[in-house]
Amino acid sequence: MKGFKIVVLAKQVPDTRNVGKDAMKEDGTVNRAVLPAIFNPEDLNALELALRIKDLSPKTEITILTMGPPRAAEIIREGMYRGADNGILITDKKFAGSDTLATSYAISQALKKIGNYDLVIAGRQAIDGDTAQVGPQVAEKLDIPQITYAEELVSINDQKVTIKRRLENGVETVSSPMPTLITVHSSAADCRPRNAKHLMKFKYAKTAIELDEASEDEKALVNNRAYLKIQIWTVEDIKADIELLGLSGSPTKVKNIENIVLQAKESKVLTDSNTDINSFIKELMENHTIG
Ligand SMILES: Cc1cc2nc3c(=O)[nH]c(=O)nc-3n(C[C@H](O)[C@H](O)[C@H](O)COP(=O)(O)OP(=O)(O)OC[C@H]3O[C@@H](n4cnc5c(N)ncnc54)[C@H](O)[C@@H]3O)c2cc1C
Repeated sequence: MKGFKIVVLAKQVPDTRNVGKDAMKEDGTVNRAVLPAIFNPEDLNALELALRIKDLSPKTEITILTMGPPRAAEIIREGMYRGADNGILITDKKFAGSDTLATSYAISQALKKIGNYDLVIAGRQAIDGDTAQVGPQVAEKLDIPQITYAEELVSINDQKVTIKRRLENGVETVSSPMPTLITVHSSAADCRPRNAKHLMKFKYAKTAIELDEASEDEKALVNNRAYLKIQIWTVEDIKADIELLGLSGSPTKVKNIENIVLQAKESKVLTDSNTDINSFIKELMENHTIG
């Protein structure tokens, strides 16, 4: 079996599982500065799927592709510590304010520049935006097939990949020719931890932006070892149309965002009696939560 070229789409996200009172700004936007930045959880599941393919076919090359601010290079290093070979950071002030349409456009342009990939593997959704749109939109823009909600690799060979995907009431096994895009569900295998050898190898991996702040010794080290250079691509590098990026390329309009903190007095204990269930459904319909 040949080695595969796999690109893992990974996003650095604010840890929305630990939201405190300062998490929202007065204008209703997320206050990213006060939330710890983490590797989007399902993107770690995506990385593990790629690493399992590399286990089967050791010549496989795994590239982490992320779009974000300069500090998103942290998750590229994290991916390398766990077994990825290299990474590319798409970063440019002109991307600011991009919604899913503009984000998937930028990512698809970067994938066109990478070229000759066999698989693009993304998480199902990011915990900050929660839309699950970026993966499928990227596949559409590249005009390649997609397998969503992947849970397990069944098999892979030079012609096709076969995946078990999670459905609401069961599983489905599907095959696709390559190249194809896969989005991975949280029920897939957890990502393996950092590997000590990879950690030692990549701990000085840096982008050119980070290198500007580094010591002379670190600069010399990175400049002598090509594998320690994390590439940065800008709008010009990916040949993107500026009108399709940032706010001008983002048709989504966020009307209002509310930070809802549930009070103890708002909770309700229900039994499984028909009366309780019926009154609860009636209440949910009356306040338009359902129906
Ligand atoms: C008007 C508007 C303005 C916005 N401005 C900003 C902004 O300035 N800065 C900002 O950070 N967000 C901004 N956002 C949020 C941004 O649109 C989404 O976070 C982003 O498009 C990804 O969507 P999602 O989080 O729902 O990802 P999903 O579609 O849920 O993600 C699915 C998968 O796609 C991949 N993926 C998603 N995003 C990336 C990425 N950036 N890099 C690599 N892989 C990725 C991951 O594998 C992820 O698991 C804005 C949103 C709107 C509506």
